[in-house]
Amino acid sequence: MKFVSTRGGRTASFDEALVKGIAGDGGLFVPALWPAFRLDDFAAASSIQGVARVFLSPFFDGSKLEADLPEIVAETFSFPIPAAELPVSPGRACLLELFHGPTAAFKDVGAAFLASCLSRLEGDTDRPLTILVATSGDTGGAVAAAFDRRPGMRVVVLFPQGRVSARQEKQLTCWSDNVLSLSVNGSFDDCQSLVKAAMADRTLNQQHRFSSANSINIGRLLPQCCYYADASLRHFRDTCRKPSFIVPTGNLGNGLACILAREAGLPVGRIILACNANRLIADYLGGAEWLPRASVRTLASAMDVGFPSNMERLINLHGEADILKTLVSVTNVDDDAIREQIRKDFRRFGFAVCPHTATATYAYDQLADSERTDDDWILAATAHPAKFDDIVEPLIGTEIPVPGPLASILSRPSSVSSISPDLKSLSAALTNRFAA
Ligand SMILES: *Cc1c(COP(=O)(O)O)cnc(C)c1O
Repeated sequence: MKFVSTRGGRTASFDEALVKGIAGDGGLFVPALWPAFRLDDFAAASSIQGVARVFLSPFFDGSKLEADLPEIVAETFSFPIPAAELPVSPGRACLLELFHGPTAAFKDVGAAFLASCLSRLEGDTDRPLTILVATSGDTGGAVAAAFDRRPGMRVVVLFPQGRVSARQEKQLTCWSDNVLSLSVNGSFDDCQSLVKAAMADRTLNQQHRFSSANSINIGRLLPQCCYYADASLRHFRDTCRKPSFIVPTGNLGNGLACILAREAGLPVGRIILACNANRLIADYLGGAEWLPRASVRTLASAMDVGFPSNMERLINLHGEADILKTLVSVTNVDDDAIREQIRKDFRRFGFAVCPHTATATYAYDQLADSERTDDDWILAATAHPAKFDDIVEPLIGTEIPVPGPLASILSRPSSVSSISPDLKSLSAALTNRFAA
């Protein structure tokens, strides 16, 4: 499969798109031709791994990794992604639990796939590839977990000091020697600028082979389509009804993956994007211009994105707002509503949802009874509530049991170095850990 840039530059192979992450003209890679599946194509696929092998195979056509697809899929979908029925009435709804991976959020899927592909394409024990990742919390942990102990690969995680939760910090700092965790005395934007500066710096590039694991990498997006494909197929086989989806949305990677699964022919009905107080997507579909905005801080912090990058892919695929608003709708949820929703869900379900997932259960509650009975609904649960214990536990007044993978991370020792937000400090930290 060939990939093209959303900004029209030259084509790239799948392997190049994975390694480069972003196109030479600054655009995002999209497949030159979106595959069209028939339901029969999945007839023999009885597990999420089987569905993923079918769904991903057109993209691997001509890749150096073609023969490795089954192994890559096995490494990516190594934990269950069940859909749990919710006790609601009228209608049917379930929660797609995307949080059973090592760092308890859906980003584990994309990070594992990217690590699996990149280590095969670029892993080199003589000259390791160094993945630089700036994180405001969730991404860095998922990427570190995915690359931990992979030969020929290193990860450098930069996070803003004092601005991630205790459990998030643990997930950023508990890995082996090939992961360097840096607590940057600055903001998330400082971390991001530092990554950009390092990637552009001559001297550093002579000493290291850098790459990024940015959320706009096509390798983070494609595997996410697979859990929507699998969930929709399972539901359709059981009920003969196409399920509709509600997806908590920030940078629009997860929501776009759901739209792309539908585009590729999977039995997906309506799609609602549940957003926090960052309103740009809703405003754009309502007629506002698509222009950068600063992000607003909310309780659903992994969705605090002012200017979602993946919209560029969606516009490239489907044209402007007039068309897009027929394909998706958006519900915005402010922090007061998130708090109230977490309490309400705990009362009626008997378990807690994380602040991101609460935007989806809120959007579901806004549906009219007729919308609930016309469609069955699958709500994406993007993280485990125990990851956000500091927010959720005071609201529900009780402790949340910690799931196994998270408990095992919390019991490990941490290793972290503090740096100031400049290249000199970063360079010293790199030499200190990775000197030849
Ligand atoms: C990253 C993240 C989101 C937002 O996903 P996007 O793909 O950026 O839209 C939602 N919930 C959680 C828990 C996340 O970590």
